[in-house]
Amino acid sequence: MTAAPWQARVLTLFPEMFPGPLGHSLCGRALAQGVWLLETVDIRDFARDKHRSVDDTPCGGGPGMVLRPDILAAAIDGVAPRERPGQPRLCMSPRGRPLDQALVGELARAGGATILCGRFEGVDERVLEARGLTEVSIGDFVLSGGEIAAMALLDAVVRLLPGVMGEAASLEEESFTAGLLEYPQYTRPVVWEGRAVPEVLLSGHHERIRQWRRAEAERLTEARRKDLWERYLASRDKREKKAR
Ligand code: SAH
Repeated sequence: MTAAPWQARVLTLFPEMFPGPLGHSLCGRALAQGVWLLETVDIRDFARDKHRSVDDTPCGGGPGMVLRPDILAAAIDGVAPRERPGQPRLCMSPRGRPLDQALVGELARAGGATILCGRFEGVDERVLEARGLTEVSIGDFVLSGGEIAAMALLDAVVRLLPGVMGEAASLEEESFTAGLLEYPQYTRPVVWEGRAVPEVLLSGHHERIRQWRRAEAERLTEARRKDLWERYLASRDKREKKAR
């Protein structure tokens, strides 16, 4: 039996942006092969007045516009019958849970997700509570809309789905999976502009190569990402204590 495809439902004011970059390369091939499904919903289809308005001014004043809860709820309720039980509902938001490889893995195992893309100043708080949306951020910066954030999330999830990446081993070794950044990669030519590929990588000695890569991954992580490094050390200490 083949696994049922992973189902993405994206609620947006700009459905024509999708699949966009997700229609190319790995994700695009997986989409064409039915490894994942993409349903886009135009939030504006749920507007009720003749101007098709979806936003209004913020209560309490201030700049910009806020997406209305009644319109967003109608859009979410429209896809609800097709959502699988327990499937997460996300709202892309700079205030959200930071997207990391652990969350990407959780989502890949969840069978799909409904993703609301904000615009303007964001969305009315009440719809988040009333429809059980979890806010997810792709980083500490502000985009003009949730679509690019949703695409980043979907790209990261889709490459983890079974059969999308050729070699499962390349997933195990890459950045963040082991709590470390990835070691430096090299390919031919062996000497380029006077720079040689590290000797050990040409040695054919698998154990020495493994040790070199681990040491490089540790060196880079300690130098570039103190936060990841501290966590890595803590989990290594825990593992070693358990082993004793
Ligand atoms: N006024 C908001 C920012 C709104 S930006 C604030 O200060 O928090 C408009 C929309 O872009 C948001 O509703 C969200 O959907 C999306 N967005 C912006 N930055 C994002 C980020 N770092 N991660 C995920 N989504 C983001």
